[in-house]
Amino acid sequence: MVDQELLKILVCPNCRGQVEYREADSVIACIGECRYEYPVVNDIPHMLIDEAVKP
Ligand SMILES: [Zn+2]
Repeated sequence: MVDQELLKILVCPNCRGQVEYREADSVIACIGECRYEYPVVNDIPHMLIDEAVKP
């Protein structure tokens, strides 16, 4: 489980948009402009553009 306080302060590093945690997919998804999806590995969000899945 990703820390809820951490989720509140996370923003998309690409577009600075809001993100949401999709627990079933183990990703942090941008719900702003770019819709990148960032992997969550061992409950640690990897908010790196290089690691993001691009739509
Ligand atoms: Zn974004």
